[in-house]
Amino acid sequence: MRKFLIAGNWKMFHTPKEAAEYGRKLAHKNPDQYDIDVLLCPPALSLPALRETLRHTKVAVGGQNIHQEPKGAFTGEMSAEMYKDAGASYVLVGHSERRQYFGETDELVRSKTIRALEAGLTPLVCIGETLDERKNNQTSNVILTQLNGAFKHFSKSDMSKIVIAYEPVWAIGTGKTATPEQAQELHLLIRRTIELEFDAALANDMRILYGGSVKVENARDLLSRPDIDGALIGGASLKVDDFHKIIEIAHQL
Ligand code: PEP
Repeated sequence: MRKFLIAGNWKMFHTPKEAAEYGRKLAHKNPDQYDIDVLLCPPALSLPALRETLRHTKVAVGGQNIHQEPKGAFTGEMSAEMYKDAGASYVLVGHSERRQYFGETDELVRSKTIRALEAGLTPLVCIGETLDERKNNQTSNVILTQLNGAFKHFSKSDMSKIVIAYEPVWAIGTGKTATPEQAQELHLLIRRTIELEFDAALANDMRILYGGSVKVENARDLLSRPDIDGALIGGASLKVDDFHKIIEIAHQL
């Protein structure tokens, strides 16, 4: 039985002070009463403040990106070990904004995923097609290429430590959500691919989150689909009340 994971990606929002305020409010709502996993990925500088205010809860914190090397002369970068040491347990890898604005390729996504695993972080690997790719009926091909690129030669044991997020690029931050049917279709494709490449038990246990303009209003419909195991939420995770409502919806399902 897969447990829901409700994850927030704050992108470049919320200073350390704002993160602490958010954490206090969320802790006050007693998130541990819900039988689901909850994760917040704040900007790196805000992570310690958020973690501190959530220390008495089971809410996990994670990074939004890591460098593919464990250490070195890479000015401005942060390593998986640094996140781990700061209390993170997850890290986003291959978010479409990283692919789009920072030129991250499937090969780099693969290297970063390996690095995260080596450091003991759970990689939350993001994949998804652009609007042009969808219009040109390339969605399945793009998803298969991204899966193959990211997880080439991975062992079953490595795969069992990974979470996948299907995030159609055209739905991220645009207010356009994939319909629950569109999302379910792609989640099933991803699960079947994992089954073919690895095995049925692994595919059955793997958590596949949906991301792309998830909000309070559409969360129930999306999360009710059989292969959608949670959500990666950008905009709607910035307000603690909205994020908490989505957690409640997941718990009720
Ligand atoms: C995201 O940042 O991963 C995301 C899905 O953003 P939004 O919910 O704002 O579309």
